[in-house]
Amino acid sequence: MELYLTKNFGKPNAIAMAGYLKHGGYRALRKVLKKMEPKDVVEEVKDSGLRGRGGAGFPTGLKWSFMPQETDGPKYIACNADESEPGTFKDREFLEKEPQMMIEGLIISAYAMGVNTCYIYIRGEYATQTKILQQALAEAYEKKFLGRNILGSGFDCDIYVHRGAGAYICGEETGLMESIEGKKGQPRKKPPFPANFGLWGRPTTVNNVETFAQVPHIINKGASWFRGIGTEKSTGNTIFGVSGHVNKPGAYELPLGYGLKDLIYKDAGGIRNGRELKAVIPGGSSVKVLPADRIDVPLDHDSLTNAGSSLGTGAVIVMDDTTCMVRVGVVLAHFYRHESCGQCTNCREGSAWLHQLMVGIENGQGKIEDLDLLMDVADSLEGSSICALADAAAWPVQGLVTHFRDEFEEHIKTGKCTSPDSFRI
Ligand code: SF4
Repeated sequence: MELYLTKNFGKPNAIAMAGYLKHGGYRALRKVLKKMEPKDVVEEVKDSGLRGRGGAGFPTGLKWSFMPQETDGPKYIACNADESEPGTFKDREFLEKEPQMMIEGLIISAYAMGVNTCYIYIRGEYATQTKILQQALAEAYEKKFLGRNILGSGFDCDIYVHRGAGAYICGEETGLMESIEGKKGQPRKKPPFPANFGLWGRPTTVNNVETFAQVPHIINKGASWFRGIGTEKSTGNTIFGVSGHVNKPGAYELPLGYGLKDLIYKDAGGIRNGRELKAVIPGGSSVKVLPADRIDVPLDHDSLTNAGSSLGTGAVIVMDDTTCMVRVGVVLAHFYRHESCGQCTNCREGSAWLHQLMVGIENGQGKIEDLDLLMDVADSLEGSSICALADAAAWPVQGLVTHFRDEFEEHIKTGKCTSPDSFRI
């Protein structure tokens, strides 16, 4: 198995420009500036089959091709480094351990789409990572990889860092753009889509940190090399972030399509304290939970969708048999209630209602009818709001009640928690 994203992580100087250059950094940028037309770069990324690593899995090259080539004003790229999905920490790895990889990918994408101004929107809590990133950008300017007439090519590109202030919803691409513009970070109605009406009403492309970090490798080694890794429709390696009740939580670079069971039991060392596995959330808190008997599944977009969940951000949250699934429901419902921006009535009221029902069950005041009510409210949130946060609030509830209905019923009948050793809130 070839590691290409993380192979230099942790090596002396990998964080600094000197180390990145020593490991072959900025070869891809030199190559595109000297030998490739912008449209060829877009085609190469399209051919690679790269899909966005921010959760939705949209084909990256296709997204880039939506950006109008000829315009009479500015166009923008925003790099989404907001990484606020609970369980997700893979982008932090790039930012902390080899930030130039993502910066190089961002400059290449700017060249491909004819963009001269990029923003990196980084979550406010990433204070250390922001410092590392700003130092990395300063070094890139110093080496003339950024600024005017990059490496004598005539291409200009500037990158600005914009820090968030702790709102999950600013990770949604149009909420992110509102925030960069200095407004309240509330998602916009679509259409119009960002490719035509993005930052300050100008064409804008938003991609995730890891998506940009993949680009130099595709340029250096070619689309067919990239297509040879992973599965037919989920190509390349990714970093899976494993957290929860495993012996070795951490970030693991693996090809898409790798087995979830192997990730938990081989790579992450199995369940802690010799306990049994109870459930896994395979793609960040907004995707549906999988019970232990359904984890024999490859970690790629299609397989996880067929299994009734989603690849999401590749953040694998592992829960052992001490875990109270009602409590999991309370934690997740509280998060989405708190993070709803409040524009859409069904998201604002529905996420609060889901939380209230979960808390009632947790506190021994639930009724059996609440389980159908939970599913009804969750169904009413799905697909009917301005952004996907309403879906994100609905899916965990649907998954928990579907797969662990017995446990919810037991809670309601006995009026108390059936897993006394579970984590506390
Ligand atoms: Fe805001 Fe929720 Fe509507 Fe998204 S779905 S715009 S978070 S109220």
